[in-house]
Amino acid sequence: MSYILHRQFVHDYPVAVSGDGPYLIDDRGRRYLDASGGAAVSCLGHSHKAVVEAIKAQLDRLPYAHSGFFTNQPAEALAEYLVTRAPERLSKVYFLSGGSEANETALKLARSYWVERGEPQRVNFISRRQSYHGNTLATLSIGGNPGRRAVYEPLLMSVAQIAPCYPYRDKRPDESETDYGLRVADELEAAIQRLGPETVIGFVAETVVGATAGALAPAPGYLKRIRDICDRHGILLILDEVMSGMGRTGHLFACAEDGISPDLLTCAKGLGAGYQAIGACLISDRIVETMSQGSGSFQHGFTYIGHPTACAGGLAVQQVIERECLLDRVRVQGARLRSCLEERFGNHRHVGEIRGRGLFLALELVEDRASKRPFDPKHKLHAKVKSEAMSRGLMCYPNGGTADGLRGDHVLLAPPFIISDSQIEELVDKLGAAIDAALPPATS
Ligand code: PLP
Repeated sequence: MSYILHRQFVHDYPVAVSGDGPYLIDDRGRRYLDASGGAAVSCLGHSHKAVVEAIKAQLDRLPYAHSGFFTNQPAEALAEYLVTRAPERLSKVYFLSGGSEANETALKLARSYWVERGEPQRVNFISRRQSYHGNTLATLSIGGNPGRRAVYEPLLMSVAQIAPCYPYRDKRPDESETDYGLRVADELEAAIQRLGPETVIGFVAETVVGATAGALAPAPGYLKRIRDICDRHGILLILDEVMSGMGRTGHLFACAEDGISPDLLTCAKGLGAGYQAIGACLISDRIVETMSQGSGSFQHGFTYIGHPTACAGGLAVQQVIERECLLDRVRVQGARLRSCLEERFGNHRHVGEIRGRGLFLALELVEDRASKRPFDPKHKLHAKVKSEAMSRGLMCYPNGGTADGLRGDHVLLAPPFIISDSQIEELVDKLGAAIDAALPPATS
């Protein structure tokens, strides 16, 4: 008997009681290797002492002070930490409690910027299919996952959507990855023309798509072309790095690898690594200057913005990542995990592609490799992989709708940066067994 309205009303959730590095432990003493960091959150595992100590020390000093009355030291220090390492022109930070709030804030900042510029007719956002940006009504509106949107569709704002950058499914055989990336980026130009450039606020995309398409990284040159198109029309580029940012790809800011800088950038999950609930929106000079010269304020706010304990936790996490050179480790262990996955699944008849960056990797599952035909969604393959993995003591993050929003399955992996070689072997062994056990009988 539970008084909680759980995600699945009828489901026996194990009770998590403690953590040990990359493992979670339940009340019956069962250990689960966290190969997905929950949902790409727990980048330092579940028992990092330095982070816990920093949070305790902050609680002893000052748990909370409302941002309408005070600023506070941990928030100022974390903002400085992020801005001094951020892509060029991102010069201020707005702290939130998670990813949806961070994206909601980015959307409202973008709209406010144009109002302050005297262009209130700008009301349109453009985003991509097979994307996820959060579960508030506005962030769901820019998201492109039909399953998550369906119930709320009549309440969502109208947003134009273009294709994701998805070479495995959409690249023509005669195209290079780069040519494909440029072609698909040009869909943004066409969407802007359709809406009327003077009505567009900005374009929103995950730098590397996470939950809804499975570690889908941009093709070479794709984001540069997107940046050029935005610049040509003066519209804002908003990059959602809630999942892909804060080191997960081997770079603190994932878009650094693509050599571009957005006008607004959001991050969350890995920022607090699950030790505290925190998100952030980084804001470029252009927006800060316009708004400073205009009303000098932002009509927005939440009770917990700049929460001192959350910021102290986030700062401690980031300092550990830097002190322990964990971005290098992400690159090394990411390459190791990828090669173990390729060894184990490279010839698997139901693994269509292994992709991603750093320790942000995914397997796309298909019924038929030659035609890339997805499994029938009625098999709920992704849900079965998750439960087979859990029963073997492995947490992974499978999802459906990969191929076109409705069909297709992938398994997302986002293990803690501290994962060891032997834990990578355990991960791959257990994942292989879970996938094979989950396949429909005729195909396994
Ligand atoms: N954006 C992306 C890319 C995400 O993956 C998520 C969560 O999975 C969100 C936004 C929403 O974050 P939150 O669940 O913290 O509100």
